[in-house]
Amino acid sequence: MLSTHPLDDDHPHEECGVFGVWGHAEAAALTALGLHALQHRGQEAAGIVAYDGEQFHAHRGLGHVGENFGSKDVIARLPGRAAIGHVRYATTGEVAIRNVQPLFADFEFGGLAICHNGNLTNSYHVRRQLVRRGSLFQSTSDTEVIVHLIATSLKQSIEERLVDALRQVQGAYSLVALTQEGLIAMRDPLGVRPLVLGRLGDAWIVASESCALDIIGASLVRDVEAGELVMIGPAGLRSTKPFERARKRLCIFEYIYFARPDSLVDGISVYEARKRIGAELARESHVPADIVIPVPDSGVPAAIGYAAECKLPFELGIIRNHYVGRTFIEPTDQIRHLGVKLKHNANRNLEGKRIILVDDSIVRGTTSTKIVAMVRQAGAREVHMRVSSPPTTHSCFYGIATPTRDQLLASHMSVEEMAKFIGADSLSFLSIDGLYRAMGEKRREAKAPQYCDACFTGDYAIPLVDHDAGKVQTQLSLLTQTV
Ligand code: AMP
Repeated sequence: MLSTHPLDDDHPHEECGVFGVWGHAEAAALTALGLHALQHRGQEAAGIVAYDGEQFHAHRGLGHVGENFGSKDVIARLPGRAAIGHVRYATTGEVAIRNVQPLFADFEFGGLAICHNGNLTNSYHVRRQLVRRGSLFQSTSDTEVIVHLIATSLKQSIEERLVDALRQVQGAYSLVALTQEGLIAMRDPLGVRPLVLGRLGDAWIVASESCALDIIGASLVRDVEAGELVMIGPAGLRSTKPFERARKRLCIFEYIYFARPDSLVDGISVYEARKRIGAELARESHVPADIVIPVPDSGVPAAIGYAAECKLPFELGIIRNHYVGRTFIEPTDQIRHLGVKLKHNANRNLEGKRIILVDDSIVRGTTSTKIVAMVRQAGAREVHMRVSSPPTTHSCFYGIATPTRDQLLASHMSVEEMAKFIGADSLSFLSIDGLYRAMGEKRREAKAPQYCDACFTGDYAIPLVDHDAGKVQTQLSLLTQTV
């Protein structure tokens, strides 16, 4: 069977990445590079819309950035000094070309392209109201709800219409939009998803993560703040805070797993945070062992921190194949029984060793079960699994596609049961207070948590309107469309 869709694998899936340029002759080429640096945030589809002062130009496609924007011809068809782009992993909406962002619409005030990282928690609800009032949706993506709310707003300016639209939605969003008048960047009132502002000469850049500024040689100016709307146009940059102030709740999982280690998220180095998390994990749960090995790549920085803290050698005990691609032909069941190791293989340095095995999270338990068996087969004497996050007990509704709660191992098993399930001699997770300590806080403030940690605590800061009404997916469309 051809595996053409990353949902075919065992993992939960990540969210999206956004990027925008205002005021550079190579806007589309810079956007393609920026998206390349954000590829880890979404591998299902990529798109760019550019504006040349008269006309908008779009190119979108399923697949990786390189597959869609690897040729000079494609970039040449996206002229102009302004562009925005998106890499997508579906959290709401099916995998289809019509859901690939940026979305574009012609309004009475002109064109608008928009892309979104996050997930709206009342999009089904709002969409139903809009459809009843006559809106015709072209996609199943929740972002299109914002487009229709802009279209139906009675306000005058695009900025007022956007704010009007966002007042009617709930959820997590870091948005980048492009109009004839300028580039707009907006982060939801709690700032759940990251967004940064950068400068390249006279040009302004916005990006989900600072690593996307680095790739084009842009400097990091600052994070777009929670609840901030930034308008960038010929007159420069203007910032407003149109919403009632709320306490910031950035997703703590960005530091644990999502963001790239070379990014600074809200001023904190992701790499250093992960090392501190690993050190805290060692302080909380170390047992005698010979070596510390990470599950690559996600467990590497935490394992470095763990090994340094307990003064044990850090070793690469598992080697990852980076070329397992989307179109790899999956082995038949018969061959799979041989134990084909597509993604990971044990190194030859494990014989007789007591191992601390570090990964960032256990979701369904698929990865850890496979890896524990693999290192045992390679001769490990003891395997102590250490996880650099608390148990994932709840699904995310704010932009990370986790499985439903019943599929989360930690939602229905104790730590001892999970240890048995994955076949480890012992299993420990970082405590929630340990995680906050590693992030520089004394502890998690029970009444006013400093981060969104709903996946570990079930404390959902933004109401789950659709979910509570039993709706998780937009199912209003009767059309299935592929490329
Ligand atoms: P599982 O194999 O289902 O237990 O998933 C845990 C593994 O998936 C760990 O190795 C994590 O690094 C990785 N992981 C955790 N969260 C996500 C996510 N949202 N998307 C993709 N991979 C993830």
